Amino acid sequence: MKVKVMIPTPLRQYVGNSDTIVVDGESVDEVLRKVADTSVQLKRHLFDENGKMRNFVNVYLNEEDIRYLEREKTAVKEGDVISIIPSIAGGSSTLENDFTYEDIQRYSRHLLLPEVGLGGQLKLRKAKVLVIGAGGLGSPLLLYLAAAGVGTLGIVDFDTVDFSNLQRQIIHSQKDVGRKKIDSAEEKIKEINHNIQVVKHETRLTSENALDIIRQYDIVIDGTDNFPTRYLVNDACVLLGKPNVYGSIYRFEGQVSVFDAKRGPCYRCLYENPPPPGLVPSCAEGGVVGVLPGTIGTLQAMEAIKLILGEGEPLIGRLLLFDAMKMRFKELKLRKNPDCPVCGTKPTIHELIDYEQFCGITPERENDENSITAEELAKRLKSGENIVLVDVREPQEWDICRIEGARLIPLNDIPARVNELNTADEIVLYCKVGQRSAYAVNFLKDIGFRKVKNLKGGINAWAEKVDASMPRY
Ligand SMILES: [Zn+2]
Repeated sequence: MKVKVMIPTPLRQYVGNSDTIVVDGESVDEVLRKVADTSVQLKRHLFDENGKMRNFVNVYLNEEDIRYLEREKTAVKEGDVISIIPSIAGGSSTLENDFTYEDIQRYSRHLLLPEVGLGGQLKLRKAKVLVIGAGGLGSPLLLYLAAAGVGTLGIVDFDTVDFSNLQRQIIHSQKDVGRKKIDSAEEKIKEINHNIQVVKHETRLTSENALDIIRQYDIVIDGTDNFPTRYLVNDACVLLGKPNVYGSIYRFEGQVSVFDAKRGPCYRCLYENPPPPGLVPSCAEGGVVGVLPGTIGTLQAMEAIKLILGEGEPLIGRLLLFDAMKMRFKELKLRKNPDCPVCGTKPTIHELIDYEQFCGITPERENDENSITAEELAKRLKSGENIVLVDVREPQEWDICRIEGARLIPLNDIPARVNELNTADEIVLYCKVGQRSAYAVNFLKDIGFRKVKNLKGGINAWAEKVDASMPRY
C-alpha cells in the first residue's frame, strides 16, 4: 500500500527538505519505521532508544489521531495520508500558518523570552485593546502596543491636534496640527507596524455609546483627563467585566493601577465620589511635565501586555504612585470596598448614569447670571465702568499674558486675602478657561459677596474675541 507521509517543518531538514515522502507499508508503524530509516536524525526524533515512538509526537491517519484508532497497529490503505505533528509545538504549524518570516524577525526579542515566545506573541496578535484618548497617555501607549504586535487597537478620540499638545503627545507631529488626533495616531501606528488593525471611534465616550464600544474589546486603557469620563469608563468596565488599566497625571506626579472588579477593587472603591468641580485643576490648567505621560503611559502599556499574556503580577489591588521630582515610586494597597456602589456586594448602580451631573458639572447656560462674556466685559471696561478685575491664575501664567488693570490673587490665596476685596465693588474674576474662576466666584458668593462674576471662557476667550495680539496657551 503506498501512503503519503507529511513531514512537519522542523523535521524536513533531515529528509532533504521535502514535505512529503511516499512509502510502502501495511500499518502506520511499518510506514513510520521505513520513513525513520531514511535518516538517523529523523529516527532519533520519532523513536526513543528502545524503539518506542516518542510521546510528544502525534500521528494522524488522514483526519484521525491514531490514538483513537488502533495506535501504531492501525492498518493503512492505498492513498492514505499520514501526518506527523510534534506535539511540543502546535508551534511548528503555528509558525507555518500564522507567522511570516517578517513577523519572526520583527518580534524576535519577544520570541526569545520564555514568558512570551510564539504562544504569547499569538496572544498579543489576537488581543483587542481599547485606548480611550489619543493624548498624553494614549501616545506612548499606542506606539508601544503597536510595536509589540497587539493585533487590534481601538481608539476613542474626537479632538484635533493643537500646538500645545506637541510637548508630550508624541504620536502627533508638527505637520498634524489641525488634523484629527485619531487620524494622526492611525498613521503613526501603521508606520511602525502595518499589521495592526486600527479601529477608530471618532466620538466622545458617553453613557449612550460606552457599553457598545467597550464590549468589543478584551482590555480597556484609560487615558482620559476628566472625571466624568473616568467614572464612565470605570462603571462600564465593571458592568461588562473588562479590566481597566488606569493612569493619571498631574504636574510632576502620576498614578497607575489595574482595576478588574472580578479580581480586585475598581476606581470607585478607591474614590467613591469625584472632587468638586474646579478643586482639582486639569493638566490644561495646572500643567504637566512632558515626559510624565511617557512614564505613566508606558507603565500602562506594560500592564496591558502582562494581562494579555497572563504573566507576572498585575497591579490589581495596588496603586502605584510616581513622583518625578523626587524620582520615587511608592505603592499603596487597595482594597475592594464591599459597599462600592458598582462592584460591591449590594451594588446600587446597574447601568450607566449621567456622569456630568454626578461630577457636579452643570452645562453652561448662555445667560448665566454669574458670568460675563469677554465682549461684554471689554465694552463695559471701555465705557469706564468701575470694575475690579481679579486674575486667579498662577504667577507663571500671569507672566505669559494678563488683562490690563487686573490684579493677581491666585485661587489658593483667595481665602487668606479675601479682605483685599470689597463686597461693595463689582468684581470680575478670570483664569485660563473659566473653571478655576468659577470655583472662586462660588466661594466668594458663599461668604457674602453679591456682585461677583466669572469671565466666561477665561483669558483664552479674551484673547480670541477681544485682543488678538494676546498669546494663547
Ligand atoms: Zn468598586
